[in-house]
Amino acid sequence: MTTDPYAWLDKSLTTIHRADWYRSVQTIQGLPGAIVRLEGQPVINFASNDYLGLAGDQRAIAAAVAAAKEFGTGSTGSRLLSGHRELHRQLEEAIASLKQTEDALVFSSGYLANLGAIASLVGKRDLILSDRYNHSSLKNGAILSGATVIEYAHCNVEDLEDLLHQHRQQYRRCLIITDSVFSMDGDLCPLPALLDLAEKFSSMVLVDEAHATGVLGANGAGCVEHFHCTGLPLIQIGTLSKALASLGGYVAGSSTLIDFLRNRAPSWIYTTGLTPADTAAALAAINIVKQEPQRRTQLWGNVNYLKHLFAEYLPHLKLLPSQSPIICFQVDNPQAALKIAYQLKASGIFVPAIRPPTVPTSRIRISVMAIHEPAHIDKLVQTLTEIV
Ligand code: PMP
Repeated sequence: MTTDPYAWLDKSLTTIHRADWYRSVQTIQGLPGAIVRLEGQPVINFASNDYLGLAGDQRAIAAAVAAAKEFGTGSTGSRLLSGHRELHRQLEEAIASLKQTEDALVFSSGYLANLGAIASLVGKRDLILSDRYNHSSLKNGAILSGATVIEYAHCNVEDLEDLLHQHRQQYRRCLIITDSVFSMDGDLCPLPALLDLAEKFSSMVLVDEAHATGVLGANGAGCVEHFHCTGLPLIQIGTLSKALASLGGYVAGSSTLIDFLRNRAPSWIYTTGLTPADTAAALAAINIVKQEPQRRTQLWGNVNYLKHLFAEYLPHLKLLPSQSPIICFQVDNPQAALKIAYQLKASGIFVPAIRPPTVPTSRIRISVMAIHEPAHIDKLVQTLTEIV
Protein backbone atom coordinates (compact mmCIF):
# COMPACT_ATOMS: atom_id res chain seq x y z
CA MET A 1 0.00 0.00 0.00
CA THR A 2 1.40 3.38 -0.92
CA THR A 3 -0.02 6.63 0.34
CA ASP A 4 1.20 9.98 -0.86
CA PRO A 5 3.13 11.42 2.11
CA TYR A 6 2.63 14.92 0.70
CA ALA A 7 -1.16 14.70 0.28
CA TRP A 8 -1.71 16.61 3.53
CA LEU A 9 -0.27 19.75 1.87
CA ASP A 10 -3.31 20.10 -0.40
CA LYS A 11 -5.68 19.64 2.53
CA SER A 12 -3.76 22.16 4.55
CA LEU A 13 -3.93 24.73 1.75
CA THR A 14 -7.69 24.14 1.49
CA THR A 15 -8.01 24.89 5.21
CA ILE A 16 -5.98 28.07 4.73
CA HIS A 17 -8.30 29.10 1.88
CA ARG A 18 -11.43 28.33 3.94
CA ALA A 19 -10.19 30.43 6.83
CA ASP A 20 -9.55 33.28 4.39
CA TRP A 21 -5.89 33.21 5.37
CA TYR A 22 -4.56 32.56 1.86
CA ARG A 23 -2.02 35.11 0.64
CA SER A 24 -0.52 35.69 -2.80
CA VAL A 25 2.25 37.98 -3.94
CA GLN A 26 1.79 40.86 -6.38
CA THR A 27 4.58 41.78 -8.80
CA ILE A 28 5.98 45.29 -8.95
CA GLN A 29 8.13 46.66 -11.74
CA GLY A 30 10.66 49.47 -11.94
CA LEU A 31 12.81 51.15 -9.30
CA PRO A 32 11.45 51.45 -5.76
CA GLY A 33 9.84 54.85 -5.22
CA ALA A 34 6.69 56.78 -4.42
CA ILE A 35 5.20 55.58 -7.71
CA VAL A 36 5.78 52.01 -8.85
CA ARG A 37 4.13 49.77 -11.42
CA LEU A 38 2.04 47.08 -9.77
CA GLU A 39 1.29 44.32 -12.23
CA GLY A 40 1.72 46.81 -15.04
CA GLN A 41 -0.40 49.59 -13.53
CA PRO A 42 1.23 52.74 -12.07
CA VAL A 43 0.29 53.10 -8.40
CA ILE A 44 1.18 55.43 -5.56
CA ASN A 45 3.09 53.23 -3.18
CA PHE A 46 2.05 53.19 0.49
CA ALA A 47 3.17 49.59 0.98
CA SER A 48 6.92 50.05 1.30
CA ASN A 49 9.24 50.17 4.32
CA ASP A 50 11.71 52.33 2.36
CA TYR A 51 10.87 55.22 4.71
CA LEU A 52 13.54 57.62 3.47
CA GLY A 53 13.20 56.66 -0.19
CA LEU A 54 16.77 55.40 -0.46
CA ALA A 55 16.20 51.98 -2.05
CA GLY A 56 16.12 53.62 -5.48
CA ASP A 57 18.74 56.28 -4.69
CA GLN A 58 21.43 56.43 -7.38
CA ARG A 59 24.22 56.77 -4.79
CA ALA A 60 23.22 53.55 -3.02
CA ILE A 61 22.84 51.80 -6.40
CA ALA A 62 26.27 53.02 -7.57
CA ALA A 63 27.88 51.82 -4.33
CA ALA A 64 26.29 48.38 -4.75
CA VAL A 65 27.39 48.12 -8.38
CA ALA A 66 30.95 49.21 -7.59
CA ALA A 67 31.20 46.69 -4.73
CA ALA A 68 29.92 43.85 -6.92
CA LYS A 69 32.46 44.76 -9.61
CA GLU A 70 35.34 44.95 -7.17
CA PHE A 71 34.50 42.09 -4.79
CA GLY A 72 32.14 39.84 -6.77
CA THR A 73 28.55 38.89 -6.24
CA GLY A 74 28.89 36.51 -3.30
CA SER A 75 30.71 36.38 0.01
CA THR A 76 31.60 32.72 -0.71
CA GLY A 77 31.18 31.41 2.81
CA SER A 78 30.65 32.18 6.46
CA ARG A 79 32.81 35.03 7.66
CA LEU A 80 34.60 32.94 10.29
CA LEU A 81 35.47 30.27 7.75
CA SER A 82 36.08 32.19 4.52
CA GLY A 83 37.07 35.62 5.84
CA HIS A 84 35.23 38.86 5.34
CA ARG A 85 35.77 42.13 3.49
CA GLU A 86 36.81 45.42 4.99
CA LEU A 87 33.40 46.60 3.81
CA HIS A 88 31.72 44.33 6.38
CA ARG A 89 33.69 45.88 9.22
CA GLN A 90 33.15 49.39 7.81
CA LEU A 91 29.41 48.79 7.85
CA GLU A 92 29.55 47.49 11.43
CA GLU A 93 31.56 50.52 12.49
CA ALA A 94 29.08 52.83 10.76
CA ILE A 95 26.14 51.15 12.56
CA ALA A 96 27.95 51.39 15.91
CA SER A 97 28.69 55.05 15.23
CA LEU A 98 25.05 55.81 14.32
CA LYS A 99 23.80 53.96 17.41
CA GLN A 100 26.59 55.27 19.67
CA THR A 101 27.41 51.73 20.79
CA GLU A 102 30.82 50.13 21.20
CA ASP A 103 30.32 47.69 18.35
CA ALA A 104 27.86 46.03 15.99
CA LEU A 105 27.52 42.73 14.14
CA VAL A 106 25.86 42.38 10.75
CA PHE A 107 23.62 39.36 10.06
CA SER A 108 22.09 38.19 6.76
CA SER A 109 18.68 39.53 7.79
CA GLY A 110 16.95 41.21 10.70
CA TYR A 111 15.03 37.99 11.27
CA LEU A 112 18.30 36.05 11.67
CA ALA A 113 19.72 38.75 13.96
CA ASN A 114 16.77 38.28 16.33
CA LEU A 115 16.92 34.47 16.19
CA GLY A 116 20.67 34.47 16.78
CA ALA A 117 20.79 37.05 19.55
CA ILE A 118 17.83 35.80 21.58
CA ALA A 119 18.72 32.12 21.32
CA SER A 120 22.32 32.85 22.37
CA LEU A 121 21.55 35.12 25.31
CA VAL A 122 19.13 32.86 27.18
CA GLY A 123 18.43 29.14 27.52
CA LYS A 124 16.48 26.54 29.46
CA ARG A 125 17.11 28.02 32.90
CA ASP A 126 16.06 31.51 31.86
CA LEU A 127 12.96 33.65 31.43
CA ILE A 128 11.86 35.78 28.47
CA LEU A 129 9.18 38.41 28.91
CA SER A 130 7.83 39.37 25.52
CA ASP A 131 5.35 42.04 24.39
CA ARG A 132 2.28 40.26 23.00
CA TYR A 133 2.48 42.21 19.72
CA ASN A 134 6.14 41.50 19.03
CA HIS A 135 7.32 40.66 15.52
CA SER A 136 7.48 37.01 14.48
CA SER A 137 11.32 37.03 14.57
CA LEU A 138 11.32 37.94 18.27
CA LYS A 139 8.67 35.34 19.06
CA ASN A 140 10.46 32.60 17.15
CA GLY A 141 13.83 33.59 18.65
CA ALA A 142 12.22 33.18 22.07
CA ILE A 143 10.90 29.72 21.19
CA LEU A 144 14.26 28.68 19.72
CA SER A 145 16.10 29.70 22.89
CA GLY A 146 14.32 27.07 25.01
CA ALA A 147 13.73 29.66 27.75
CA THR A 148 10.37 29.98 29.51
CA VAL A 149 8.44 32.60 27.54
CA ILE A 150 5.69 34.71 29.09
CA GLU A 151 3.93 37.40 27.08
CA TYR A 152 2.91 40.65 28.73
CA ALA A 153 -0.02 42.77 27.56
CA HIS A 154 0.93 45.13 24.75
CA CYS A 155 3.07 48.03 26.06
CA ASN A 156 1.66 47.38 29.54
CA VAL A 157 4.34 48.24 32.09
CA GLU A 158 2.17 47.27 35.10
CA ASP A 159 1.59 43.81 33.66
CA LEU A 160 5.31 43.42 33.01
CA GLU A 161 6.14 44.50 36.57
CA ASP A 162 3.63 42.00 38.01
CA LEU A 163 5.18 39.21 35.96
CA LEU A 164 8.67 40.19 37.07
CA HIS A 165 7.51 40.14 40.72
CA GLN A 166 5.92 36.72 40.27
CA HIS A 167 8.55 34.94 38.21
CA ARG A 168 11.94 36.67 38.08
CA GLN A 169 13.43 34.95 41.12
CA GLN A 170 12.85 31.43 39.82
CA TYR A 171 15.13 31.96 36.84
CA ARG A 172 18.84 32.48 36.24
CA ARG A 173 18.71 35.22 33.58
CA CYS A 174 15.79 37.30 32.38
CA LEU A 175 15.46 38.99 28.99
CA ILE A 176 12.74 41.53 28.16
CA ILE A 177 12.14 41.64 24.39
CA THR A 178 10.19 44.24 22.46
CA ASP A 179 9.76 45.92 19.09
CA SER A 180 10.54 49.63 19.37
CA VAL A 181 8.05 50.63 16.66
CA PHE A 182 5.37 47.94 16.44
CA SER A 183 5.30 47.01 12.79
CA MET A 184 1.57 46.33 12.40
CA ASP A 185 0.35 49.10 14.71
CA GLY A 186 2.83 51.96 14.47
CA ASP A 187 3.05 52.73 18.19
CA LEU A 188 6.22 52.86 20.32
CA CYS A 189 7.28 50.65 23.22
CA PRO A 190 7.60 52.41 26.60
CA LEU A 191 11.40 52.03 26.50
CA PRO A 192 12.42 54.19 29.52
CA ALA A 193 9.96 52.33 31.78
CA LEU A 194 11.17 48.97 30.45
CA LEU A 195 14.76 49.94 31.21
CA ASP A 196 13.82 51.04 34.73
CA LEU A 197 12.14 47.70 35.40
CA ALA A 198 15.07 45.83 33.88
CA GLU A 199 17.42 47.57 36.29
CA LYS A 200 15.16 46.90 39.26
CA PHE A 201 14.82 43.20 38.42
CA SER A 202 18.35 42.62 37.12
CA SER A 203 17.14 41.81 33.62
CA MET A 204 18.45 42.40 30.11
CA VAL A 205 16.49 44.35 27.48
CA LEU A 206 16.51 43.60 23.75
CA VAL A 207 14.80 46.18 21.53
CA ASP A 208 14.11 45.70 17.83
CA GLU A 209 14.67 48.99 16.02
CA ALA A 210 13.70 47.64 12.57
CA HIS A 211 11.14 50.37 11.82
CA ALA A 212 12.80 53.11 13.88
CA THR A 213 16.32 53.27 12.49
CA GLY A 214 16.74 56.23 10.14
CA VAL A 215 13.28 57.40 11.17
CA LEU A 216 13.23 58.31 14.88
CA GLY A 217 15.71 60.32 16.96
CA ALA A 218 17.55 63.54 16.19
CA ASN A 219 20.19 61.66 14.17
CA GLY A 220 17.97 58.85 12.96
CA ALA A 221 19.50 56.38 15.43
CA GLY A 222 16.04 55.11 16.40
CA CYS A 223 13.71 54.84 19.36
CA VAL A 224 16.63 54.55 21.80
CA GLU A 225 17.81 57.99 20.72
CA HIS A 226 14.24 59.34 20.59
CA PHE A 227 13.80 58.42 24.29
CA HIS A 228 17.28 59.72 25.24
CA CYS A 229 18.37 56.22 26.27
CA THR A 230 21.58 56.24 24.21
CA GLY A 231 24.46 54.64 26.08
CA LEU A 232 22.27 52.69 28.54
CA PRO A 233 22.90 48.95 28.82
CA LEU A 234 20.65 47.25 26.28
CA ILE A 235 20.79 45.15 23.15
CA GLN A 236 19.66 46.77 19.93
CA ILE A 237 18.56 44.79 16.90
CA GLY A 238 17.76 46.22 13.52
CA THR A 239 17.43 45.61 9.84
CA LEU A 240 19.22 47.04 6.82
CA SER A 241 16.13 46.40 4.71
CA LYS A 242 13.84 49.30 5.59
CA ALA A 243 15.15 52.90 5.88
CA LEU A 244 18.65 51.57 5.14
CA ALA A 245 17.57 50.44 1.69
CA SER A 246 19.39 47.13 1.50
CA LEU A 247 19.19 43.61 2.92
CA GLY A 248 20.58 42.30 6.19
CA GLY A 249 20.25 42.83 9.91
CA TYR A 250 22.41 43.78 12.88
CA VAL A 251 22.93 43.69 16.60
CA ALA A 252 24.45 46.79 18.23
CA GLY A 253 25.72 46.95 21.80
CA SER A 254 28.79 46.52 23.96
CA SER A 255 31.95 45.03 22.47
CA THR A 256 31.63 42.12 24.92
CA LEU A 257 28.13 41.37 23.62
CA ILE A 258 29.29 41.48 20.00
CA ASP A 259 32.34 39.33 20.69
CA PHE A 260 30.10 36.84 22.50
CA LEU A 261 27.65 36.68 19.56
CA ARG A 262 30.46 36.20 17.05
CA ASN A 263 31.33 33.09 19.03
CA ARG A 264 27.87 31.86 19.91
CA ALA A 265 25.10 32.94 17.50
CA PRO A 266 24.44 30.02 15.10
CA SER A 267 22.53 32.24 12.65
CA TRP A 268 25.70 34.32 12.28
CA ILE A 269 28.38 31.63 12.52
CA TYR A 270 26.86 29.09 10.14
CA THR A 271 25.61 31.34 7.37
CA THR A 272 27.25 33.18 4.51
CA GLY A 273 28.25 36.79 5.04
CA LEU A 274 26.28 39.63 3.45
CA THR A 275 26.97 40.12 -0.24
CA PRO A 276 29.39 42.97 -1.07
CA ALA A 277 26.59 44.78 -2.94
CA ASP A 278 24.16 44.67 0.00
CA THR A 279 26.90 45.72 2.39
CA ALA A 280 27.95 48.69 0.26
CA ALA A 281 24.36 49.82 -0.32
CA ALA A 282 23.63 49.84 3.43
CA LEU A 283 26.86 51.72 4.11
CA ALA A 284 25.93 54.33 1.51
CA ALA A 285 22.44 54.62 3.02
CA ILE A 286 23.83 55.20 6.53
CA ASN A 287 26.03 57.99 5.18
CA ILE A 288 22.98 59.58 3.55
CA VAL A 289 20.99 59.22 6.81
CA LYS A 290 23.77 61.13 8.55
CA GLN A 291 24.26 63.77 5.88
CA GLU A 292 20.65 64.46 4.91
CA PRO A 293 18.52 65.00 8.04
CA GLN A 294 16.08 66.88 5.79
CA ARG A 295 14.80 63.47 4.62
CA ARG A 296 13.56 62.80 8.15
CA THR A 297 12.00 66.27 8.30
CA GLN A 298 10.22 65.53 5.02
CA LEU A 299 9.05 62.15 6.30
CA TRP A 300 7.56 63.56 9.51
CA GLY A 301 6.01 66.43 7.56
CA ASN A 302 4.22 63.84 5.40
CA VAL A 303 3.13 61.80 8.44
CA ASN A 304 1.67 64.92 10.09
CA TYR A 305 0.00 66.00 6.86
CA LEU A 306 -1.73 62.63 6.49
CA LYS A 307 -2.87 62.65 10.13
CA HIS A 308 -4.19 66.18 9.68
CA LEU A 309 -6.20 65.19 6.59
CA PHE A 310 -7.58 62.12 8.35
CA ALA A 311 -8.72 64.24 11.29
CA GLU A 312 -10.38 66.72 8.94
CA TYR A 313 -12.00 64.46 6.32
CA LEU A 314 -12.24 61.00 7.90
CA PRO A 315 -12.78 61.61 11.61
CA HIS A 316 -14.76 58.36 11.99
CA LEU A 317 -11.81 56.22 10.82
CA LYS A 318 -10.70 53.79 13.57
CA LEU A 319 -7.06 54.87 13.55
CA LEU A 320 -4.66 52.91 15.76
CA PRO A 321 -2.45 55.11 17.97
CA SER A 322 0.76 55.74 16.02
CA GLN A 323 3.97 57.65 16.66
CA SER A 324 5.67 56.48 13.48
CA PRO A 325 5.23 56.53 9.69
CA ILE A 326 3.12 53.35 9.99
CA ILE A 327 -0.50 54.45 10.13
CA CYS A 328 -3.22 51.83 10.42
CA PHE A 329 -6.97 51.93 10.64
CA GLN A 330 -9.10 49.05 11.78
CA VAL A 331 -11.87 47.53 9.72
CA ASP A 332 -14.57 45.09 10.77
CA ASN A 333 -13.33 41.90 9.14
CA PRO A 334 -10.77 40.45 6.70
CA GLN A 335 -13.17 40.72 3.74
CA ALA A 336 -13.72 44.43 4.38
CA ALA A 337 -9.94 44.97 4.56
CA LEU A 338 -9.39 43.12 1.29
CA LYS A 339 -12.19 45.07 -0.38
CA ILE A 340 -10.69 48.43 0.61
CA ALA A 341 -7.21 47.38 -0.55
CA TYR A 342 -8.72 46.19 -3.85
CA GLN A 343 -10.66 49.43 -4.39
CA LEU A 344 -7.58 51.52 -3.58
CA LYS A 345 -5.55 49.51 -6.07
CA ALA A 346 -8.24 50.03 -8.72
CA SER A 347 -7.84 53.79 -8.07
CA GLY A 348 -4.05 53.62 -8.47
CA ILE A 349 -3.04 53.33 -4.80
CA PHE A 350 -1.06 50.45 -3.31
CA VAL A 351 -1.91 49.86 0.36
CA PRO A 352 -1.92 46.42 1.98
CA ALA A 353 -4.73 44.80 3.95
CA ILE A 354 -3.35 43.11 7.07
CA ARG A 355 -5.48 40.29 8.43
CA PRO A 356 -5.47 37.57 11.06
CA PRO A 357 -3.45 35.48 11.79
CA THR A 358 -0.76 38.16 11.22
CA VAL A 359 -2.65 40.54 13.53
CA PRO A 360 -5.56 40.02 15.94
CA THR A 361 -7.90 42.39 14.05
CA SER A 362 -8.04 43.31 10.36
CA ARG A 363 -6.63 46.63 9.30
CA ILE A 364 -5.35 48.77 6.44
CA ARG A 365 -1.66 49.57 6.90
CA ILE A 366 -0.37 52.80 5.35
CA SER A 367 3.37 53.30 5.21
CA VAL A 368 4.43 56.92 4.67
CA MET A 369 7.74 57.78 2.98
CA ALA A 370 9.88 60.93 2.77
CA ILE A 371 9.52 60.90 -1.00
CA HIS A 372 5.72 61.09 -1.07
CA GLU A 373 4.46 64.38 -2.43
CA PRO A 374 1.46 66.17 -0.90
CA ALA A 375 -0.55 65.26 -4.03
CA HIS A 376 0.04 61.54 -3.33
CA ILE A 377 -1.31 61.91 0.19
CA ASP A 378 -4.25 64.04 -1.04
CA LYS A 379 -5.18 61.33 -3.51
CA LEU A 380 -5.04 58.62 -0.83
CA VAL A 381 -7.34 60.56 1.50
CA GLN A 382 -9.71 61.63 -1.26
CA THR A 383 -10.06 58.05 -2.48
CA LEU A 384 -10.61 56.78 1.04
CA THR A 385 -13.38 59.33 1.60
CA GLU A 386 -15.10 57.86 -1.46
CA ILE A 387 -14.78 54.19 -0.53
CA VAL A 388 -14.69 53.80 3.26
N1 PMP B 1 11.77 42.98 13.12
C1 PMP B 1 10.69 43.67 12.74
C2 PMP B 1 9.95 44.49 13.75
C3 PMP B 1 10.26 43.63 11.40
O1 PMP B 1 9.18 44.31 11.02
C4 PMP B 1 11.01 42.86 10.47
C5 PMP B 1 10.65 42.79 9.00
N2 PMP B 1 9.37 42.94 8.66
C6 PMP B 1 12.11 42.15 10.93
C7 PMP B 1 12.47 42.24 12.25
C8 PMP B 1 12.89 41.28 10.01
O2 PMP B 1 13.81 42.03 9.29
P1 PMP B 1 14.35 41.49 7.90
O3 PMP B 1 13.34 41.84 6.87
O4 PMP B 1 15.65 42.18 7.72
O5 PMP B 1 14.52 40.01 8.05
